Amino acid sequence: MKMTKVSYWKVTGPFKIGECVTVMGRDYVLEDVEPYVTKQGAGSSLLHWRGQCQTCGGRFSFKTGRTRFQPYANCERHRPYAKGVGDG
Ligand SMILES: [Zn+2]
Repeated sequence: MKMTKVSYWKVTGPFKIGECVTVMGRDYVLEDVEPYVTKQGAGSSLLHWRGQCQTCGGRFSFKTGRTRFQPYANCERHRPYAKGVGDG
């Protein structure tokens, strides 16, 4: 058995494209809002964010749902637990 602490933020509207939020001292800009239908068939929104990598300072983008905003601190290359990263 493995226990994992999960922490996330909930994003409440109205959503404003280009608006910047600060989470844990890091800035994230809302780039786009995309209509999204959940597996249960409910309408929701997919939020497109832009952040700045804590390691290289590069820009990166990611998407989250409204109810679980789990921001990345690093670009894909510098995430310790990045998914889908191969050797080449
Ligand atoms: Zn980076």
